[in-house]
Amino acid sequence: MIPLQAFKRYARYELIRAGLESAALPGLIGARPAVGGRGAIFTLHHVDPRVPARWAPNSWLKVTPAFLEQAIQVSLDSGLTPISVEDLPERLADRADKRRYVCFTLDDGYRDNARFAAPIFRRYGVPYTIFITAGFVERSRSIWWKTAEEIVGTVDRFSFDFPDGETDMRTETDLQKIAAFDRLAAFVTQAEDEDAAVAALDGLARECGIDALGITERQTMNAVELGELAQDPLARFGAHTLTHPNLRRVADDRLRRELTGSADAVARYVGVRPRAFAYPYGYAAAVGPREIAAARDAGFATAVTNLPGLIDERHVASPNAFRRVSLNGFYQKRRYVRALLSGLPFRLRAIAGAEPS
Ligand SMILES: [Zn+2]
Repeated sequence: MIPLQAFKRYARYELIRAGLESAALPGLIGARPAVGGRGAIFTLHHVDPRVPARWAPNSWLKVTPAFLEQAIQVSLDSGLTPISVEDLPERLADRADKRRYVCFTLDDGYRDNARFAAPIFRRYGVPYTIFITAGFVERSRSIWWKTAEEIVGTVDRFSFDFPDGETDMRTETDLQKIAAFDRLAAFVTQAEDEDAAVAALDGLARECGIDALGITERQTMNAVELGELAQDPLARFGAHTLTHPNLRRVADDRLRRELTGSADAVARYVGVRPRAFAYPYGYAAAVGPREIAAARDAGFATAVTNLPGLIDERHVASPNAFRRVSLNGFYQKRRYVRALLSGLPFRLRAIAGAEPS
């Protein structure tokens, strides 16, 4: 099998890199970089100094603490005021307030956030918001993209019942691993029933000797750890559903349960009811008008997507559909942060349509 998807993926990353480099040209951005819009909401996932030795399927989700520190420095040097994302709608609604803001958000509640990111935010006095998925905290839901990564990284081949039939996949070389990962990812993201797809992947993991919920347990914070981190006055917590589904693919009653149930859960873990929400996946195929209305009706003051873009005046009218800027493990350079804050890269097609978190 020719892993065409894998080649396409490489090509796209190089295209984005080229876009970032061109936006970062010294002539375009001076010592004090121009900031577009009203600033930016950054998206992070893992913050961990252990950089994968080679390309891994989810390595774009991981930035080093040093890069986080650079992103904070560039933001402060650019004159951005750091605030918590839940306070953003109020500030933007104040017509007398012309400041530009930066918000740092971290999705999924990974354990490394407390260990490696919190100390850096503390050093700079910068608030941060972690979006929590209750099913991860309760160890009742596996993180399918981690499960898939561990499967292709562990075995040399596997057989899986894809919708078009039982298929043997070889996973010896890096390209084969990437291709197999992409195939499993497509299986889950395109499934009508995401619960069933995740369960099928958990089953494949078991056959490969991997405990999918054990990965959740290792990588995400439990209720006790969240309670401890909540002692940090800079830490805020938002809701990120019960099971991390593509909300556009669930029925109305399930949508409401995912929203209010996760707010209830976060309130239990940290003692404060969350005012912010992050849509799982956050790309256009996972967030639509129905989901945005439901987040508002569930009482969230702010909700964030992963559509790429800066904070815009238009968000005053729709604080439940903020765009964000992903700090991506593949592009960990100070000059890329400057380029992203300028807003220029979002006019480039490769980045505007980039893979969301
Ligand atoms: Zn997420």
